[in-house]
Amino acid sequence: MKEIILIKNGELVLKGLNRNTFEDILIKNMKKALRDIGEFTFTKSQSTIVVESADGEADLDDATDALSRVFGIVALSRAAVAEKDIEEIKRTAREYLADELSLASTFKVEAKRSDKKFPLKSPEISRELGGYLLSKFNHLKVDVHNPDVTVTVEVRDSHAFIRGNNIKGAGGMPVSTSGRAAVLISGGIDSPVAAYMMAKRGIELVAVHFASPPYTTELAEQKVFELLHKVARYSGPITTYVVPFTELQEAIRDKCDEQYFTIIMRRFMMKISEILARHQNCSALITGESVGQVASQTIYALGCTDAATDLPVFRPCIGMDKVEIVNISRDIDTFETSIQPYEDCCTVFTPRHPKTRAKLEEVTEVEKAIENADELIKRAADGARKTVIK
Ligand code: ATP
Ligand code: MG
Repeated sequence: MKEIILIKNGELVLKGLNRNTFEDILIKNMKKALRDIGEFTFTKSQSTIVVESADGEADLDDATDALSRVFGIVALSRAAVAEKDIEEIKRTAREYLADELSLASTFKVEAKRSDKKFPLKSPEISRELGGYLLSKFNHLKVDVHNPDVTVTVEVRDSHAFIRGNNIKGAGGMPVSTSGRAAVLISGGIDSPVAAYMMAKRGIELVAVHFASPPYTTELAEQKVFELLHKVARYSGPITTYVVPFTELQEAIRDKCDEQYFTIIMRRFMMKISEILARHQNCSALITGESVGQVASQTIYALGCTDAATDLPVFRPCIGMDKVEIVNISRDIDTFETSIQPYEDCCTVFTPRHPKTRAKLEEVTEVEKAIENADELIKRAADGARKTVIK
């Protein structure tokens, strides 16, 4: 029996860019997601995209799993392909949906007939097939309002497609329909979630991570790569910079008033990230900050951080509680990695009494103590190591 995957795309229809461009980008992203699974063909057809294994050999379980993480897809379903003949449709539905129907208590049949030459009208198809399935699966009852399984038959131009329940898609917009942005990624819980959320809105990600060896270790860096690898399952490949940050952090420690350590460090992170972001044609920065979570995330501190860059800073976690962020990190499978206990550069030289009501004038004044700041910033950006995380 031939089987395909049907893709229902989401918000695409609502957008200004024309539908075709959006679908083409979505198909490109699907191809990337399926790269390691096999060769597939993609056919746009009647507000769905039909995905088919080119040689009939690819594992559709793996393909469905990969596609369930591609943004821009609202729902997907596996479907059996049958000849356009009601007897053939009945036989195929019985065989193809045997497991699903055996486990269900109730079902209904929905028929859609886009080939108007097909001799039965939609309600007739539903009635015929419904009656047949009832006779073959004796335990089943029909429930048109809230069935366990909805059997859908679509009679299209070439074939009939028969499918059971839909699988929920990742939603959002296809990655790279909304430009590029650089996410400041730590090993924590929040920034991978922030990255995921912006990718979901169609933004292509670049990542910047600050490492301060020997205060931070190789293991911390590995952890960040692992987190990015998990985000990349949704966002596609992420060009990643690891920035040598030790020299700047030591300069801050040696020259600045301790209360301002974190804010100043964060401002330098922004400046370096801006250089790398512009280099990569990014139009915004992304962080995992959330108001009030820690001293460096009061609105005053966030204001000082913002002032360090001319790029807009997106903080999708800004109004979220930690529990809400944790829930998303569990959903996208980054949580267990995030809670591994490696030191981040943020926890090196943490002030005992951080300034929570910092004023920008004070901060910039304290910062002046690092006379060669511009040179250090440039050196850090130049020294960044680039890798692509898939
Ligand atoms: P996270 O869970 O993302 O680490 P957090 O609540 O622990 O966030 P901080 O450690 O204060 O908060 O960091 C705030 C934000 O600054 C992070 O969300 C991230 O965007 C950025 N950031 C922190 N440390 C680093 C780092 N080493 N490299 C790059 N960005 C960082
Ligand atoms: Mg952190």
